[in-house]
Amino acid sequence: MGHSQLSDIGSVGSRGMSALRVRGPVLPDGETRDLYVVEGRVTYDRVSSAELVAEGWIVPGLVDAHCHVGLDADGAVPPDVQEQQALADRDAGALLLRDCGSPADTRWVQDRDDLPRLIRAGRHIARTRRYIRNYAHEIEPEDLPAYVAQEAGRGDGWVKIVGDWIEREAGDLAPSWTRASLDAAMRTAHERGARVTAHVFGEAALPDLIASGIDCIEHGTGLSADLVDDMVARGVALVPTVRQLDNFPQYAEAGRRRFPAYAEHMLALHRRRREVIGAAYEAGVAIYAGTDAGGVLPHGLIGEEVRELTTYGLSARDALGAASWRARSWLGLDGTLAEGTPADFVVFDEDPLLDLSVLGRPARIVLRGAVVG
Ligand SMILES: [Zn+2]
Repeated sequence: MGHSQLSDIGSVGSRGMSALRVRGPVLPDGETRDLYVVEGRVTYDRVSSAELVAEGWIVPGLVDAHCHVGLDADGAVPPDVQEQQALADRDAGALLLRDCGSPADTRWVQDRDDLPRLIRAGRHIARTRRYIRNYAHEIEPEDLPAYVAQEAGRGDGWVKIVGDWIEREAGDLAPSWTRASLDAAMRTAHERGARVTAHVFGEAALPDLIASGIDCIEHGTGLSADLVDDMVARGVALVPTVRQLDNFPQYAEAGRRRFPAYAEHMLALHRRRREVIGAAYEAGVAIYAGTDAGGVLPHGLIGEEVRELTTYGLSARDALGAASWRARSWLGLDGTLAEGTPADFVVFDEDPLLDLSVLGRPARIVLRGAVVG
């Protein structure tokens, strides 16, 4: 956000936008404070005229680190549906979205102060005929670096590739790319200041993706102990989308008639999911919360994703941090509600660290300094 936009918000003050006050424990440290919002920013300097708008546990704006605005099961959706998707996320307290691939141009969302902050990855890049129809640029490995360069230019610092999918002749998941194409693609993205993430369900695609210098893995159900250690050493993040992993049996059954080996493979990945993702967490891989909303799942499930993460072994604090302060820092924003930071936060009536189900009931939502819920 530039300074001109901030002074625009400030000028609203003369038309009646007064300072706000919220009171309560401010997470992650939990110190009880009076937090004021002045001209869209957090301050702890007392403003006597401020209106008290909430009391409760104050959490830095939630983050959905893997969702898709502008996408549904059949492909791109029009702007009115994109708006509903973004509003559903916002009303669940998700005030920062990392979009993990969309065939629609959703840049307009960034011009709306009442919609969540949006970090886009451009359009998915997949191997020819090896992803969901209408979603991706479908290309061959030799074209991967050029497409990564293109999507790095269109997105907001992230590029999304599909690392594995059903390969029809093998009848099972198989890596989408060659090691050489991945090496060139990662170099291309990093030269342009973009990070790369990959959809990966199975085991076989992971070694080349991680060795080529990828920045993040989505899903990650095929990880092994060795690869997890590599991820820690290289600082590769993991967004497991644990709500989405519950759908693996459904995907297995949908493919069983034509691809029985794939169906068995998906069921095996599903059975091991808690063990595999839990081992990554134990080893110290940085895990972030993403719902994968927009393809199969609806938007607005960030609270459920956080709760589900605790069934994989994450503590309540680590699961909430994965969808709040830690995720915000990872994505380049202020992690905590320090003096002078943009006022994006959610207030809850109870301590979410004692009962994460309260995440489903935000008491107040403040985005860019304005009460939006
Ligand atoms: Zn996704």
